[in-house]
Amino acid sequence: MESDKIYDYDIEREREKFPILRRTVNGRPLVYLDNTATTQTPREVVDAVVDMYYDKKANVHRGVHTLSQEATNAMEATRSLVREFINAGSTEEIIFTRGTTESINLVASSYGQLLDDGDEIILTVMEHHSNIVPWQLLRSRKNIKIKVVPINERGELDLDVYRSLFTDRTRLVSVAHVSNVLGTVNPVREMIAYAHSRGAVVLVDGAQAIAHLRVDVTDLDADFYVFSSHKMYGPTGVGILYGRRSLLEAMPPYQGGGEMIGHVSFTGTTWAALPYKFEAGTPDFVDAAALAKAIEYIRSLGVERIAAHEDRLLDYTTAELLAIPGMRIFGTAPHKSAIISFLIGEATPFDTGMLLDQLGIAVRTGHHCAQPLMESLGIEGTVRASFALYNTFDEADRFIAAVRRVAAMLT
Ligand code: PMP
Repeated sequence: MESDKIYDYDIEREREKFPILRRTVNGRPLVYLDNTATTQTPREVVDAVVDMYYDKKANVHRGVHTLSQEATNAMEATRSLVREFINAGSTEEIIFTRGTTESINLVASSYGQLLDDGDEIILTVMEHHSNIVPWQLLRSRKNIKIKVVPINERGELDLDVYRSLFTDRTRLVSVAHVSNVLGTVNPVREMIAYAHSRGAVVLVDGAQAIAHLRVDVTDLDADFYVFSSHKMYGPTGVGILYGRRSLLEAMPPYQGGGEMIGHVSFTGTTWAALPYKFEAGTPDFVDAAALAKAIEYIRSLGVERIAAHEDRLLDYTTAELLAIPGMRIFGTAPHKSAIISFLIGEATPFDTGMLLDQLGIAVRTGHHCAQPLMESLGIEGTVRASFALYNTFDEADRFIAAVRRVAAMLT
């Protein structure tokens, strides 16, 4: 496999942009393979945060003064860039939230009010808790039914079952673009087309897709598409909800407060136009502004090139890990993103993760906020390694060697 260890960008130059990658952990150079939980942040994004605090901090949308206008312009520039990045029709369809979780809660509580008792929604067994619990909260307020699409042995959704779950009462489907445990890239375009043919709308949870795949909401024909800045090399505390304009217009506000109103009086209040109707209160304008730098950064390398790099790391590492006795990998779909969930023999994920940490390797262990998926796999949890644009084959080799060592100790 040596011949496959190629880079088609200057990886060392990219790594230098991420100061954290130079640190040591437990006396060893850090190998950061917890990118599914959050990606690291390049200097230019952090500089943009600092620049907002040092040079442009003023509350947005309210002021005529220069600083307020500059801060507003910076945040609105990000909105335009996000629109372009995901190929949405208009900036009015791009709403700033706190993250994927809040974006889904927004849709569940607001769009949810348009559902009637007896209506049905479809989720999948591989969803993150943040794409399950908001719908259960809705179910506790309205008498809706939740149906669940199962997976096959490779960790792919069973599309026959998916189609068979629809009835005349199906109003919404909510599905991950990429599973945060299995890495499976779901056929969301096909699933959306089918849902539309049955009169249902579709929310796509793009948390694990946005930094790893080309996302085009117009081509997908998605009704809602949600993601978090911190998983795409951006600052924490910001996320995006893309929503189809006609749906957002029909939906009631999510929270009330400043910014989201047209006119307030004690006899009746009117709402602001999109997208502000869904942005009550002072937004995290500092981090929203800096998100633009993260998008520019991804675009400077190109998401396809990033994906190709991560795929090479995935293929190489998977083949090497499978040679370790007792190795079980969960999620073997041909179309998968660079996430490897595994168990070695009877070793607990916790023990494996602790030993890897001693060797400077950061992986995630546990149920990964996907307990229904764990239950369907008949396990408590896994060890999960996931790659990003700055990971190297040298790091993959150190990880593989460490897993071999741990396997020899624990099995
Ligand atoms: N959905 C998926 C598929 C995820 O991987 C995550 C984060 N692990 C989330 C939703 C939640 O994202 P956040 O915590 O940024 O809101």
